[in-house]
Amino acid sequence: MYVNSLCGSGWLQKASFLGNRSQDAGASFHQVGVCRVARHANCRASSPLRRFLAMHTRVPRNENFSKLQGGYLFPQIAQRRREYLEKHPDAALISLGIGDTTQPIPPHICAGLTQGAKKLATKEGYSGYGDGEGLYALRKSIASRLYGDRIRPEEVFVSDGAKCDIARLQMVFGSEVTVAVQDPSYPVYVDTAVMTGQTGRINADTRQYAGIVYMRCDAANDFFPDLSKTPRTDLIFFCSPNNPTGAAATREQLAELVAFARHNGSIIVYDAAYAPFIRDPAVPRSILEIDGALECAIEVNSFSKYAGFTGVRLGWTVVPSALRFADGTPVAKDFGRVMNTAFNGASNIAQQGGMACLDDEGLAEIEQLISYYLENTRILREGMESLGFSVYGGRNAPYIWVRFPGRSSWDVFTEFLEKCQVVTVPGAGFGPAGVEYVRLSAFAPREACQEAVRRIQTAFGGRPADPIAASSFQ
Ligand code: PLP
Repeated sequence: MYVNSLCGSGWLQKASFLGNRSQDAGASFHQVGVCRVARHANCRASSPLRRFLAMHTRVPRNENFSKLQGGYLFPQIAQRRREYLEKHPDAALISLGIGDTTQPIPPHICAGLTQGAKKLATKEGYSGYGDGEGLYALRKSIASRLYGDRIRPEEVFVSDGAKCDIARLQMVFGSEVTVAVQDPSYPVYVDTAVMTGQTGRINADTRQYAGIVYMRCDAANDFFPDLSKTPRTDLIFFCSPNNPTGAAATREQLAELVAFARHNGSIIVYDAAYAPFIRDPAVPRSILEIDGALECAIEVNSFSKYAGFTGVRLGWTVVPSALRFADGTPVAKDFGRVMNTAFNGASNIAQQGGMACLDDEGLAEIEQLISYYLENTRILREGMESLGFSVYGGRNAPYIWVRFPGRSSWDVFTEFLEKCQVVTVPGAGFGPAGVEYVRLSAFAPREACQEAVRRIQTAFGGRPADPIAASSFQ
């Protein structure tokens, strides 16, 4: 009672807490476990009481954030990895997990970055804030060198990356739109939809959020959704080459998707972050190659995987001027408004790096870099196939998607970690349809991929080719 009455306001708790700290010469509230108020009450603070006594403001939490599940996938994996290393400090872990690049930025492209930085130290070369939409020369280069001038420079918005653009697009669309995602998919589409208020709560059994249409993509449908059974939504998030399945949609499949969107009056948000991995001429590098796409699709893209810019941060989004909302407003108008309000233009140094990516020398370096990762992909894919696993993706993409029928992907993740010291990504983290799969990433150094295959073959060698029988192997 006494504690309750003393702690009626957050500010009183704060004052009390600060007083305690000065008295205890820096010892924290949690270390001491006794707060000034609790001491007055002559009691040792229990955990719930301690939580109750903790300082809090009177600002309500954004309800949408309470709908989010767990942490974002990759911090969870990092946590598991840390826990494993605490128990086994000498383990030489190999990470085929997070899709982060590992190879150095090639020299010509890097020179673009360093020259960009050096220019800033000169009177003539210095620049401050730039256009929110990006450097015009870079927008022009993207339009001509990557899209063969099918789009105009004004339709290209340069940014600090595809992930950030996806979040900013959600800001444009707001909470009232309905969304469809591939299942499995890159978690950012679903999580930003939840944050924006486009969904209800998650269903504990199906692991699906109310309000999202999950378009199942698995081996049975060649990882392309059955659109004849897909209800209409305002937005369709579609990623090809796909993270995590490694599937790359063919021209016919993309034409079907565009026809579906046009028929329904929907907008496709097409994530082409892995486009440079496409080597098969039957697979388009951009959805904007498809007739009719300019009136129904936005394309987000990034230099992250093209040129090892994951840390540099540079991407772009194409919003065609022909794409309009129901009331006729060009979508580009609102996206431009967001770019100039909630963003202030990509780093001028990064943009100089982007310019270097797109000249002849830069494009040749990109091809070489991508070839390196594609060779890793081949090594991983063939290594896993040699063990009789059901292996998908990994041809026009840097990801291998391996199926373990009847098993939980977190169990398989743990088994690879403990038996091989290889970090993978559990498919369940990408959506309910990923529950029997793990993803292997080829963004590791060559020797790491070779060593990972050797370890996996040693641990799982002799595993029967029949995947059903394989599922009983522990
Ligand atoms: N889109 C997909 C499908 C991704 O897998 C990733 C990163 O892994 C991104 C976007 C993020 O791109 P960026 O680094 O440009 O934010």
